[in-house]
Amino acid sequence: MPMIRHLGLKAYGKINLGLDVLKKREDGYHEVRMIMQTVGLYDKIDLYLKETPGITVETNLYYLPVNENNLVYKAAKLLMDEFHINHGVTIHLKKFIPVSAGMAGGSSDAAAVLFGVNKMFNLGLSMEALMERGVKIGADVPYCVMRGTALSEGIGEILTPLPPIPQCQVLIAKPGISVSTKFVYEHLDAASLRPSDHPDIDGMIAAIRERDIYGAASLLGNVLETVTIPEYPVIAEIKDRLKSLGAVNALMSGSGPTVFGIFTSPKAAEEAYEEMRYGKSANLAKSVYLTNFYNTKEVSHGK
Ligand code: ATP
Repeated sequence: MPMIRHLGLKAYGKINLGLDVLKKREDGYHEVRMIMQTVGLYDKIDLYLKETPGITVETNLYYLPVNENNLVYKAAKLLMDEFHINHGVTIHLKKFIPVSAGMAGGSSDAAAVLFGVNKMFNLGLSMEALMERGVKIGADVPYCVMRGTALSEGIGEILTPLPPIPQCQVLIAKPGISVSTKFVYEHLDAASLRPSDHPDIDGMIAAIRERDIYGAASLLGNVLETVTIPEYPVIAEIKDRLKSLGAVNALMSGSGPTVFGIFTSPKAAEEAYEEMRYGKSANLAKSVYLTNFYNTKEVSHGK
């Protein structure tokens, strides 16, 4: 079979509808229980075959690494080393998912490159095989290979697919602050959490299985807010504003600082977007996006 010379890939971001931390393990990782949901906001990745060996990364964001510290580089190297590939690849990465925002942008880029390299060089790896390799790059990478709605356990690598949630609008607002994931996990004091700080993950799974969007939305919860909100009150302000603008509910995603609001009315979502982006609330968030839940398995951006 002839090798593919170019692939255009979409790497979708995620939000956490639920995020609970069970404990810190001996090896330093945290054991989590999370409800993951892919959203329609994506990075574009173009993968080009090179005749000469080596991996070249180019990106539109000057501050991202273009060496082995970029997760797309790691993903390509992992497969190309394992399969002793003599050719090289050039990876063009165009970022749209906010960076260091709790939306797993880097992990999703890595997942797309695993998928792309597998296809470009006809490696014949199944989705499960890509997921097994993905966890070596990052705990969220296996989920980003799988996508859709899922329960994520262990350090993030034990995944149970859930049925898709009825379509909704998702308004994403990222304040102009940076929150380090490491800082958040290090400052989470699992021992002093109250029972009400933990989201009801089982209740949310039941609501999702019943396709009950209002039930699921009422149970949104993220234990990491106990660290970030006292430190960055703007996160709570954005949540409140999204709710007052018609969101059924709102939550911080991952370790933040991104906040998302779920809307069941497209009109209300559009108006809230306008208000957050251009209205009196525009001072709260630096970046605002209107998107939706994304549950199909398409990966190509069709260039
Ligand atoms: P998570 O939700 O998994 O915590 P995140 O949204 O907090 O992820 P990312 O944007 O995935 O964070 O990654 C941010 C960090 O990773 C930055 O330090 C950045 O330099 C580095 N990085 C490496 N590769 C990438 C990439 N392809 N895209 C974004 N960041 C990358």
